[in-house]
Amino acid sequence: MTADQSRTSWVQVPDGSDFPIQNLPYGVFADASGVRCGVAIGDAVFDLARAESAGLFTNTGLDRDTFRCESLNDFLGHSRGVWSSVRNHIADILDRSNPGGRSFCEKHHLIIDHPVQMRIPIEVGDYVDFYSSEQHATNVGKLFRPDGDSLFPNWKHLPVGYHGRAGTVVVSGTPINRPSGQRRSPQGPVFGPSRKLDMELEVGFVTGGGPGFGIAIPIDEAEHHIFGLCLVNDWSARDIQAWEYVPLGPFLGKSFATTISPWIVPLEALEPFRVPAGDQEPAPLPYLTTDHRIGVDIDLSVSITPNGSSEEREVTATSFTNMYWTMAQQLAHATVNGATVRPGDLFASGTVSGPTRDEFGSLLEITWNGTDPIEYPDGSTRTFLEDGDTVTIRGRCTAEDAVPIGFGECLGTIEA
Ligand code: CA
Repeated sequence: MTADQSRTSWVQVPDGSDFPIQNLPYGVFADASGVRCGVAIGDAVFDLARAESAGLFTNTGLDRDTFRCESLNDFLGHSRGVWSSVRNHIADILDRSNPGGRSFCEKHHLIIDHPVQMRIPIEVGDYVDFYSSEQHATNVGKLFRPDGDSLFPNWKHLPVGYHGRAGTVVVSGTPINRPSGQRRSPQGPVFGPSRKLDMELEVGFVTGGGPGFGIAIPIDEAEHHIFGLCLVNDWSARDIQAWEYVPLGPFLGKSFATTISPWIVPLEALEPFRVPAGDQEPAPLPYLTTDHRIGVDIDLSVSITPNGSSEEREVTATSFTNMYWTMAQQLAHATVNGATVRPGDLFASGTVSGPTRDEFGSLLEITWNGTDPIEYPDGSTRTFLEDGDTVTIRGRCTAEDAVPIGFGECLGTIEA
């Protein structure tokens, strides 16, 4: 129902907005009335806490005060059926053809059209980062291990990943301090601020509850546990990473900050943009095999505004369809040993890189580890990020016969 492409809202939605009534992404915001959950509609926010108090969700199976809180986790802990029912109630009250919708919202002050501050939408319990773009893994292999095979032998048999640091996942707009750490030098390791600070273009999925401790999620049920998607910038200090990562993988080169976009786009809103995933050769093991391997068609881009400039330059534009492993395969793999999934866990895709330089998802790849700088409109050049640089990731879905939707921005500025 919510995928009905002819639907429009009585709330004014600007042309080209990421947030028409077909999207209705969830977030957490703050204004003078406090912190609470909301849904984006055009440039406004639909106040979920007030809507709940006004009785809008009485028959949806929600507990009391699910939305008068500082994260979406309580809501994520409900079933898919509840997610869907709440979404339908919101779409109905905002629908232009609903005669009582507008007056109900006005009576209860449900549309917030003054500026609000976006907060991190979820309390991230566990954070996993995958490595599921073949082009990215190949590029990094060539750069970090020029004398070996660029892909390790396991790469096409399992979605390689690592557990990241949940406590340093921050919302878009949070300043990013340049991390310090050890890096290799000809004289031995030295300590200091990273000289190779990078971004990574990624898409993350946020889970609801899992089946419990010790129980695997079968691949064909995996998407039942996925609530929605957001944009992710997995900031990376390449010099720290290159020195520390053997043999246990990323550590301090990644754990200082990960930025996510403030709005979680429900998987239900992405239905019109689902596409078959590409063939896998060799075929993966049975627990990673399904007859319905599908990805999401999201156009992704990264723009950088250099320090002191007001003009951004798009440094990459690529598609989420480039991923080798799907979200369902990632979640099935991450839980096949019985590892727990909880509401608000975040699983990032790994850097999304397409086949050519203008589709690479990190500066490591775009500048080929600093050997091929990027020029900016103000005449400056960059290899890695400098203090004051702002990185903005955007994502937008388009398809025939579908109203385009987007993710908003995932933005961060480097501070010394
Ligand atoms: Ca990453």
